Amino acid sequence: MNARKNFLDMTKSEGRVEKGHLHLLTQIIREVSEIFSSLGFKIADGPELETEFYNFDALNVPPDHPARDIQDTFWLKPDKLKKLLRTQTSDVQIRYMEKNKPPFAIIVPGKVFRNEATDATHDIQFHQCEGLVVGENINLANLKGTLETFLKKLFGEDVIIRLRPGYFPFVEPGVEVDMICFKCKGKGCPACSQSGWIEILGAGMVHPTVLNTVKIDSRKYQGFAFGLGVDRITMLRHEIDDIRLFYSGDLRLVNQF
Ligand SMILES: [Zn+2]
Repeated sequence: MNARKNFLDMTKSEGRVEKGHLHLLTQIIREVSEIFSSLGFKIADGPELETEFYNFDALNVPPDHPARDIQDTFWLKPDKLKKLLRTQTSDVQIRYMEKNKPPFAIIVPGKVFRNEATDATHDIQFHQCEGLVVGENINLANLKGTLETFLKKLFGEDVIIRLRPGYFPFVEPGVEVDMICFKCKGKGCPACSQSGWIEILGAGMVHPTVLNTVKIDSRKYQGFAFGLGVDRITMLRHEIDDIRLFYSGDLRLVNQF
C-alpha cells in the first residue's frame, strides 16, 4: 500500500479555477419572479408529469382540440389518468385554485414539453411563466396595467403595449399582447418583420367555466391569466436567434451571460 498516493497536498496550486454561474434562463426566471413578487404575486409550482384533466379538461380545452393530438403532446403509456408531460404551465392554475380561496395572485415559472419538430424557434422543451389573479372586481384594465408594468421593468420604461383579440380555451375574452419593437421603436425593422410590434404573450379573463370547475363562484369572482414564453423573451432581450442554443450545453453561449 502506498499511503502517499492518496495524500492531498493542500498547498499545491491547481491554477485558476473557473467559477460556475447560473444559466441565462435561470437568471431571467429569477428576474421575472422578482418583478412579480414586487407586485404582490406569490410563486407557485406544480408537477411536470401531469394528467389530462389538469392539462386540458379543467382548462376548458375541448376533447377534439388539435393541441391534444399526439403531434403536440407527449403521452405516457395509456392508463386511467391519461398521463402526459405538461404542454403548458396553466395546469397549475387548476391545482392552485383547488386548494386556495380568492383573492390571490400567483405566477408559475416552469418547464413545458411539446412533441413537435424542432427549429430555431421551437424546441421539445421550453419554459413558461403562467400568471393568475383572482378576486372581486378584477377586469381587463387590471390585466393590461399589470403586464405593462412588468414589461416596462423588463424591457425599459419606454415600452408601449397593445392588446389584440386572441383565442385560448381557458379565457374569455382572450388577448394577444404585443409590445412596441424595442429595436426600432415602432418604425419597422427585421426584428419585428417590419411591423413595428412584437408578439410577446397571450392572456385573458379567466373563463367562468374554469372557475366553476374548481368551485369558485364565477358570479362573485373574476380573474385574469397570462402565459409568458421565458425562452422567447430571453431571445428577444439578448438577441439570441436559436432557442436550441439554450439546451445545447455549449459554453460559448453560457459564458456570455
Ligand atoms: Zn422593429
